Amino acid sequence: MFHYDGGLKLTRIDLAIDFCRRQPRGFISHAHADHIGRHELAFCTPATSRFYQHRLGPRQVREMPYFQPLNWEGFRLTAFPAGHIFGSAMLLAEDGGRSLLYTGDFKLGESATADPADPPRADVLVMESTFGDPQYRLPPRQRVIEQLLDVVRDALDRGFTPVLQAYVLGKAQEVTRILTTAGIPVLQHPAIYAVSRIYEACGCSLGACREYPGRPLPDHAVVIPPAGQRVARLEGIRRKVTIAVSGWAAAPRTRRWLKAEHAFPLSDHADYDELLELVRRVAPGVVYCTHGPESFVARLQKLGYDARVLGKPHQKRLF
Ligand SMILES: [Zn+2]
Repeated sequence: MFHYDGGLKLTRIDLAIDFCRRQPRGFISHAHADHIGRHELAFCTPATSRFYQHRLGPRQVREMPYFQPLNWEGFRLTAFPAGHIFGSAMLLAEDGGRSLLYTGDFKLGESATADPADPPRADVLVMESTFGDPQYRLPPRQRVIEQLLDVVRDALDRGFTPVLQAYVLGKAQEVTRILTTAGIPVLQHPAIYAVSRIYEACGCSLGACREYPGRPLPDHAVVIPPAGQRVARLEGIRRKVTIAVSGWAAAPRTRRWLKAEHAFPLSDHADYDELLELVRRVAPGVVYCTHGPESFVARLQKLGYDARVLGKPHQKRLF
C-alpha cells in the first residue's frame, strides 16, 4: 500500500505525502516549509491550499475539506483535523481492505485556532513523534497561558513592550488569539500579518490585531518571528521584554535555543502523553514513527505494539 524512499508514498496511486521535492501528486498535511513542495497537483484542505499558494505562488490544487472522502483511482482519501495549526490535516487512505492513517504534525489538546484533532481508527499508523521523550510532558495549558499573560501585563504596566517570538504560520496566530481574547491588542510583524489575513479570510478570527505601524503603541503586545529567522527586524522598539512561545521551552536543554528573557511551553505538537494517547485511539496493527527519538519506538514495543522507525535507508516496501 505504501513505500518509503526518502519520504512516504502511497504506491498504487503514486501519491507522495509531505514531500519537499516536486512530485506529480503530493498530499500536503499543512503548509509549514518542511511539508510543502512545488507539486504538479497538490491535495490539501482549503485553508492549507491558501497558505501553500501564499508561500509558493499559484499552484494546481485538489481541495479536500475535512471528513469528505475523495475517491481516487480505487482509493478513498479523507482529511481529518490534526489540531496542529489552522487547516492542518491527517490523511486516512483506504484501499477497500486496509486503512492507513498518516498524522502529519498533530496535537490532541486544545487550540485557540486549529480545529480539534479527530483521529480515526486504522490498520497502519504513520505518526510524527517529535516530543517522544518523557521530558516533553507539557504543563497544563491554562496554567501556561496565565503565566504568559502575567508577564505580558507586567511589561505593559512598567511601560515596556512585550515582544513575543512565534512561528509565522500557526504559533503567531495562536498566541495572538490568546492575547486578544484576554483583552490585549496585538501588532504583528508584516510577514505574520500577511498570514493572519488568510486566517481571517478563511473564517478564523484573531480579534484586535493589525500590522505593526512602524512604532510600538501603548498597551499593545507585538508578535514577531522567532530569533534567528531571516526576516526584516522591526524598528522603533527600545524598551522591550522578549518572550518565546514554543514547545521546546518544556526542557532546559532546548529552552536555551529560544534566546528570549522568558519562554513558555505552549506547543502545537502532541506532547509525550498525547503521542501515547493517539496510538491508543487509533489502535493500529502496525505503527511507524517519524521525526522522533528511537526510544519512543522502544516504549511502544514495551506496551505491546508492533512499532517501527520510519526513515531507515533500507526501508522500501512496507505494507
Ligand atoms: Zn508543522
